[in-house]
Amino acid sequence: MRIKDKKRFIIACGGLAAIVILVIVVLTIGFMNNNKTQTSANNKQNVETTTVQTTTAKETAPVSNSQTVAVEQPVPVETKDDTKNANTTSTDSITMLVNKNHSIAASYVPADLVTVNLPSTRETQMRSVAAEALVKLFNAASSAGYDLSCCSGYRSYETQSELYAWNVDIYGVDGAELVSARPGMSEHQLGLAMDVTSATVGFDLLESFGSTPEGQFLKDNAYKYGFIVRYPQGKTEITGYAYEPWHLRYLGVDVATEIYNSGKTMEEYYGTN
Ligand SMILES: [Zn+2]
Repeated sequence: MRIKDKKRFIIACGGLAAIVILVIVVLTIGFMNNNKTQTSANNKQNVETTTVQTTTAKETAPVSNSQTVAVEQPVPVETKDDTKNANTTSTDSITMLVNKNHSIAASYVPADLVTVNLPSTRETQMRSVAAEALVKLFNAASSAGYDLSCCSGYRSYETQSELYAWNVDIYGVDGAELVSARPGMSEHQLGLAMDVTSATVGFDLLESFGSTPEGQFLKDNAYKYGFIVRYPQGKTEITGYAYEPWHLRYLGVDVATEIYNSGKTMEEYYGTN
């Protein structure tokens, strides 16, 4: 190679190297800029994501809460299915709960009272739906060979006041509380209760009625016609009353059957007292 060519070669190499360096520099700057943009974009994205997440969190919070409620809701609903809501406000309802803790107005008189057309120790009334069901129950008892007799159905607030006072005179307040409802706290005022007796107990209201064939028939069959023995044996602490095998309460066939099958009192069935 000649000196002139050598020089040319060196210049060419230098130029090429300069171009390569320039390209590298340009690429490096370009890469760095690109990274900057990406980082910035990423940062921006992060902020946006954070914002979105925050927003989502804010929006999700109530949703999540309502979801939690939605998940929790079936629990009380299921509970409701097991223990029904006690009806303590609709006095005209056949499932109205009346006891020592749930009273009814002194002025309440059922609108559909009818005289019960059955053997009875005195003329007495019930609401028509209960009276009709009681006729069916008495007919079933009669077919099975048992003669039942009505004793006392609907009682007004005033009549119940007199009866309670009479019991207090005889048994004192504590004694009366076990056998007689205070006025406004008697199912008899609902027109949905009937005290039933028979010749086997001298048409009286006695605990021993529960062991007579008539009393046994009522215990085992009343529910089929919509009645329950409202104050069963051994449940005084729950019902507040002594065992009354004669006191039938009309609730309709469905509820009466459920209560009979559960072996519970009305209070236990509704989970209240
Ligand atoms: Zn009664």
